[in-house]
Amino acid sequence: MGLLAGKKVVVLGVANEKSIAWAIARLFHAEGAELLLTYAGEAIEKRVRPLAESIRATVAPCNVTSDEEIATLMSAIDERWGGIDILIHSVAFADKEELKGSILSTTRQGFSMALDISAYSFIALLKEAQPLMAGRNAVALAMSYYGAEKVFPNYNVMGVAKAALEASVRYLAVGMGEDGVRVNAISAGPIKTLAAAGVAGFNQILSTVEERAPLRRNITQEEVAKSALYLCSDLASGVTGEVHYVDAGYHVTGI
Ligand code: NAD
Repeated sequence: MGLLAGKKVVVLGVANEKSIAWAIARLFHAEGAELLLTYAGEAIEKRVRPLAESIRATVAPCNVTSDEEIATLMSAIDERWGGIDILIHSVAFADKEELKGSILSTTRQGFSMALDISAYSFIALLKEAQPLMAGRNAVALAMSYYGAEKVFPNYNVMGVAKAALEASVRYLAVGMGEDGVRVNAISAGPIKTLAAAGVAGFNQILSTVEERAPLRRNITQEEVAKSALYLCSDLASGVTGEVHYVDAGYHVTGI
């Protein structure tokens, strides 16, 4: 019996086999969970469908900028499962132009889009999911980055969005705590994925972490997934409102 035997899990954010969300989906499947993976747009759907089939997961569309698509997703889940035990939010987006140069170049539109997709969407999803998650020791988990707290070159508006996401995690933990729902985030170290490719100079961040992190290396998607398993299983039944670092210890260093 796996740690997540029989659990109904919704995963938002699988784009390809390098996605953090995919490592989580695979591990949760191996631990006995039943999964639904979402996709935004036809191009992503084409990549997600075969991955989903390989772990006997179902797929459904959900562009998180659309309240309508979120509502449709939740009513389809209600019909299919009657509830949600775990919701994984592994979604972020900012225009490439916003992820280079100075924060002073941030546009109003670019700011709104980054904050909408990368932070507000977590609230929007949980608002609709609340009736499906209440009273079943459910868990929601979001993905953050240390750029929420410290300045990294070119991360710019995404750092602001991650700060909003981490604050949302704390407020949502209180907002959903009465229903027994736990809400946490993982602050993952840098990993080469599609989203990371949008950040100018990302390789420089990778090599700095390798040099300075206590473990003298970068982390893997699988390591994020293992911590996600802890946070989403009964092992973390007393943990909510927490931002948990999976970064080879990089955040404790001063230089
Ligand atoms: P990824 O590109 O594989 O995943 C990002 C996902 O966001 C994609 O599946 C994409 O389809 C989805 N997405 C974007 N806009 C969307 C929308 N409007 N509606 C629905 N989905 C949308 O990259 P990843 O690195 O696995 O990113 C997953 C999460 O982890 C993100 O929140 C990211 O900020 C976070 N994170 C990544 C790193 C890293 O270095 N890769 C580090 C810390 C945190």
